[in-house]
Amino acid sequence: MPIKSVILVVEDEASIRGFLSAVLAANGYEVINATRGAEAYMMITSHCPDLILLDLGLPDMDGMKIISSVRGWSQVPIIVLSARIHERDKVAALDAGADDYLAKPFGTSELLARIRTALRHARLRGLNEDVVQTGKYRCGGMLIDYDKRRVFVDGKDVGLTQNEYKMVALLGRYAGKVLTYEFITKEIWGPRMSDNNQILRVNMANIRRKIEKNPAEPAYIFTEIGVGYRMADNSETAAE
Ligand code: CA
Repeated sequence: MPIKSVILVVEDEASIRGFLSAVLAANGYEVINATRGAEAYMMITSHCPDLILLDLGLPDMDGMKIISSVRGWSQVPIIVLSARIHERDKVAALDAGADDYLAKPFGTSELLARIRTALRHARLRGLNEDVVQTGKYRCGGMLIDYDKRRVFVDGKDVGLTQNEYKMVALLGRYAGKVLTYEFITKEIWGPRMSDNNQILRVNMANIRRKIEKNPAEPAYIFTEIGVGYRMADNSETAAE
């Protein structure tokens, strides 16, 4: 028997909670419940669920608050189940860090499919992070320290922001390969981020200012015009 994924259902309406628990249990998930926001926080920290189904209209707080604060320290997938059907509510929840959004009433099969998808993405993300989070990558005078989550050039910490670090770490992991703008965007801002090369360009300009001697003639991260970016393979800077 594979280990069951634990799903936290945060819902104040007893009938919906009961229905969800039954459906999820019947489909092989272990279910834990919370009826209020404060209780949800406790369950999240003490039980570390694999996924959260979150109602927004809770008696003691707006579920939106839960999304943004949980995202401060956890990547656990959050699927919002809400009676709020306006596009702006969905956008706000997704922007705050929810992985998905289902308007009530929703179909059971659709819900189960979205849960499977969110769990699959989380597993892939976990695998990627395992690779990213250990060891070092050295290329000429630049060193990516994955354990410390810092980048050094000639021994000095260049002071990257979190997103800048993530971009450099990602490119370092695939050093020598061209990563497309789309791939980088999705890896860093999540699968729901729309393609927006501008935000990448701004970040890259800042990164280059910090790591390159001459940002106009980069030695570490190259632009493949119209395609993406590529980090130098260590052999390319072996002379240094
Ligand atoms: Ca509610």
